[in-house]
Amino acid sequence: MDGKPASTFSGLMMRIGVVAIQGDVSEHVESLERALDEQGERAKIITIKHSGTVPECDAVILPGGESTTLGRLLVQEGIDDELRQASKRGIPIMGTCAGMILLAKAGNSLVKRTHQHLLGLMDVTVNRNAFGRQYESFETELDVDTLDSPYNAVFIRAPAIVEAGEDVRVLAMIDDKIVAAQQNNVLAIAFHPELTRDSRMHYYFLDMIREKRSSPHSD
Ligand code: GLN
Repeated sequence: MDGKPASTFSGLMMRIGVVAIQGDVSEHVESLERALDEQGERAKIITIKHSGTVPECDAVILPGGESTTLGRLLVQEGIDDELRQASKRGIPIMGTCAGMILLAKAGNSLVKRTHQHLLGLMDVTVNRNAFGRQYESFETELDVDTLDSPYNAVFIRAPAIVEAGEDVRVLAMIDDKIVAAQQNNVLAIAFHPELTRDSRMHYYFLDMIREKRSSPHSD
């Protein structure tokens, strides 16, 4: 990335945090680096393992993994409250797969039964493992509202949003299930944009970060 100009939106290079306590962290870091490189942008990618790091970030990614474990560790490390504070400040937050589950304010019976900790950053109800066991992982050409052609989306034991408040913008659906949605600064994606070479979902998230950095006091 040498020789490329640093982002100058607010003078400092963008700092993007990736929650790195469990799940597909390295895939997220690599796909983010690739998306930035493709756009000729430089950013500092910071892995978040303990409290104290989220407040330094301009944006945060919550990767997929195992949502119950992730939720428990977020609380144990004190990262959950920092994420709530960051979201209140309008910091862009993207959750993928298990990360989408964590963003929700409510979940189905499986979420309740497993005492799943939820961050409650989005006015949505999620259904964990929404596509059933016999259909655990699949790829599909998905129409996404923000993209001008279909996106090859990889689903692995994916959740879906089954109810969404009126402030939630639905970005993609499969049948009656919402698989991508946005509420202000929070972006939830049921599939894995970090597992394909199509960077357009990352570009969208990078645009959300640029927008926030260009008007830091609006959210
Ligand atoms: N089904 C998983 C869970 O409920 C999420 C799967 C994933 O993130 N790939 O935690």
